[in-house]
Amino acid sequence: MRKTYEGTEIDVSFDPEICEHAGECVRGLPAVFDTQRRPWIVPDAASADDVAAQVARCPSGALKYERHG
Ligand code: SF4
Repeated sequence: MRKTYEGTEIDVSFDPEICEHAGECVRGLPAVFDTQRRPWIVPDAASADDVAAQVARCPSGALKYERHG
């Protein structure tokens, strides 16, 4: 089931059933994507542009983003 993690300028959602566990997100932007932390996605930990760019590199489509405004 897809879950949404809200940020100030951008929301990120994640569907664990689609994730390929390639670790692309965790390696690319560890401040935002940290599986050792709850919540494991903190969209405000980087700029909205960086978050959007990293989400776009998710190979499975498990990550999606929605920018505000
Ligand atoms: S980049 Fe996408 S597929 Fe890879 S671990 Fe992150 S969410 Fe899963």
